[in-house]
Amino acid sequence: MTPLKISLRTLTPLWTGGVDGTMDRIHETGILGSLRWWYEAIVRGLGGSACDPTSDNRCPDKDGNYCDVCQVFGATGWRRRFRLEVVEDNTRPIWEPKDKVLNIRPPSRTRGWYLPPGRMGTLTLKFTGEPKILSLMAALLLFLEKWGALGAKPQLGYGVFEITNHAEVLEWAQGNENDKPGWKWGILSDQASNEKLSDLRKFGFFKFRFPQDREGWWLRIPALSRVSAHVQPLEREFKTIPVSPVLKDHWRFRQWKGPRYLEREIFGTLRPERQRSKVVVSWAYPASTFWEVRGWVWLASPRWAEAVWNMIRDESMWRYLLVQGYPNTIWNERRLQYQRDVLGILTEVLQ
Ligand SMILES: [Zn+2]
Repeated sequence: MTPLKISLRTLTPLWTGGVDGTMDRIHETGILGSLRWWYEAIVRGLGGSACDPTSDNRCPDKDGNYCDVCQVFGATGWRRRFRLEVVEDNTRPIWEPKDKVLNIRPPSRTRGWYLPPGRMGTLTLKFTGEPKILSLMAALLLFLEKWGALGAKPQLGYGVFEITNHAEVLEWAQGNENDKPGWKWGILSDQASNEKLSDLRKFGFFKFRFPQDREGWWLRIPALSRVSAHVQPLEREFKTIPVSPVLKDHWRFRQWKGPRYLEREIFGTLRPERQRSKVVVSWAYPASTFWEVRGWVWLASPRWAEAVWNMIRDESMWRYLLVQGYPNTIWNERRLQYQRDVLGILTEVLQ
């Protein structure tokens, strides 16, 4: 059987975890975890049902049935339908030693953000298994290349990538007459969404592009200039700038005016129990003649969805924070609300 090979180049560092909290190489488990998370959000967004594998309601149900996601990714008593192997791993840590964290602290903060050294470079994901499932993986990765990210810690801006063997991956997703069946996304059912479970019908995706031709453009951002000795090599060697703390600081501590318990729900907290941030924003990376920052918001609750979405999509705020008000920037957004919106964003990358 022909394997599906997807060759990637990282645009922001890739983080997949590791044995002792550091990362000696790209770990398949970290990639698989993120693929599963996205596929769950997609299946629910298409109106289907996907169990929460961390809850007691996980598959199988009392009749021994498995949800669409478990059928592909596996569960107790059901094998994952494909195998993933990282081959040709030409990535390296973006700084050493591997347990050192970069503390980005905006001027008014006492702690700030702590960034571990992800890895940058090229790698190939090799998928083997049923051809139909491989076509699904190709379709999933093409969507993530355009709007999402791969691996862990997307909240800190990790995991943006581009596919370097695009034509081959597209052929897998579209199908051919021969060994590749292709994958067609379709509306699954009409299940209502649940605030606790990620669902693409509640997602807003965004990209901000800005022209920068001079090296060191980020030196005018106070939180970055104070650690310029650490950021300079990132720009020079890896062409990526950790702007995510700058944006998150602004949204969370300057813009958000609502109650504190909602702030924790939206932007994440470690106590009393861990809640992940629903606002995800990447580092900056070059995109043709521009630089780009992307991200998404899981607009889980109607109590704050409009306020947060309007805060994020304020282009003048982006200009103020990243390019000192320079006007020639490009804003691109996709807010999804219905199954057909989800179908649309998934399908258009397969054209
Ligand atoms: Zn399941």
